[in-house]
Amino acid sequence: MADDDPFENMLAQMDRAEEYADVDHDIFERLKYPERTLKVTLPVELEDGGVEVFEGYRCQFDSARGPFKGGVRYHPSVTQREVEALAGWMTWKTALVDLPYGGAKGGIICEPKDLTENDLESLTRRYTEGIRRMIGPETDVPAPDMNTNPQTMAWMMDTYSMYEGYTVPKVVTGKPLEIGGTPGRVAATGRGVSIITERLFEYLDRDLSEATVAIQGFGNVGSHAARLLDDAGARIVATSDVTGAVYDEEGLDVPTLAAHVDAGGTIEEYTDGDLKGASEDRTRWDEGQALDNDDLLTLDVDVLIPAAVEGVITEDNADDIRASAIVEAANGPTTVAADEILSERDVQIVPDILANAGGVIVSYLEWVQNAQEFSWPLETVNAELERRIGKAFDETIARYDEGNIPDLRTAAYTLALERTASAHEYRGLFP
Ligand code: NAD
Repeated sequence: MADDDPFENMLAQMDRAEEYADVDHDIFERLKYPERTLKVTLPVELEDGGVEVFEGYRCQFDSARGPFKGGVRYHPSVTQREVEALAGWMTWKTALVDLPYGGAKGGIICEPKDLTENDLESLTRRYTEGIRRMIGPETDVPAPDMNTNPQTMAWMMDTYSMYEGYTVPKVVTGKPLEIGGTPGRVAATGRGVSIITERLFEYLDRDLSEATVAIQGFGNVGSHAARLLDDAGARIVATSDVTGAVYDEEGLDVPTLAAHVDAGGTIEEYTDGDLKGASEDRTRWDEGQALDNDDLLTLDVDVLIPAAVEGVITEDNADDIRASAIVEAANGPTTVAADEILSERDVQIVPDILANAGGVIVSYLEWVQNAQEFSWPLETVNAELERRIGKAFDETIARYDEGNIPDLRTAAYTLALERTASAHEYRGLFP
């Protein structure tokens, strides 16, 4: 198996769980195939005058439990296989946290850094036109993922609505508040990661306030997880982005770093002392020392949180990982080969389909509010997020504690596969 193929990785994760899951084998085999994937060609007139042709995808993996749901990613390394793997993971995630959704994912092969705001708007609108026959408020509901944000969702919602002839807020989630977004959505995935890390420490009977944490990726998910874990008393000693990594064994000044990144700064600029956006009256600031990006993964910390891209923990570095717990904020950061090594070494891994489910939970809450044409206060959204992700954590632990299941990922997969298979069984095979 190619260790760097995310789809093969997802299939191998399913295979590991099959022997422990109460699932009919014929249905299990059916669950390995996406329902459909659309590939779209996207010619876009760029601001500099030229026309560039981009390629995009939307994969709808499984809808037995409800409408398709999943983010849209803009990245140069997007492939059809990756989008299909991510759509599969969304299916298992929505089942594990018991949302009435199936799983989907979309992506465009592009380097957003090389595109202007106008280019991104044109590309997003063209992509939405390309997939609009597939998506819809009751059929398939996109959301943000890597390099996409509330503005991207606003353009998608507007384009879809223009064709429909009326405003359809429910067609996407992760929208700006002004056009039907929910309070709490931007921070939701990071908040879920933080809640799960706290729950894991309670389960392991360890004190989070004495824990050190390294976070790979200081984007939407990583930065919010860092802020909330910092608030909870953990010591965030390292983080990174594509430009580099920063380390401070005393603990990073997370609010200052977050303000710097919010103001458009990079980690490389931060370690170079080129500070952006921080308040003048900050009480402490130590820029920390620059660190090689790969070395962040093998730091001697209590918790490692990969929050960037998939396939970063592999059989090549699994033996060198010194963290005793890994909380997977990114989708698919650990390959199956690495999983086996880490499981044997008793490194506790909270799988992506549980650890990063906060985003889709709050997306669901946004969709429900849109259906009700009513908006909830932040406290209600956060309380419901905590209740739902906490319940999924408890159910996963209960399944794991029943015995003979080797790790939390396999326990989580058995629940997700059983729920999805059960929906298929009730619905039957058409025609
Ligand atoms: P983002 O684009 O906001 O941030 C990604 C961060 O990772 C950036 O800081 C980027 O510079 C950094 N990065 C990328 N490649 C890196 C590398 N090789 N080494 C170090 N840093 C690197 O994206 P995001 O929304 O925070 O998503 C991060 C991960 O979380 C993805 O795997 C995504 O699928 C997953 N996720 C996101 C959400 C969500 O709600 N945004 C929900 C569930 C899962």
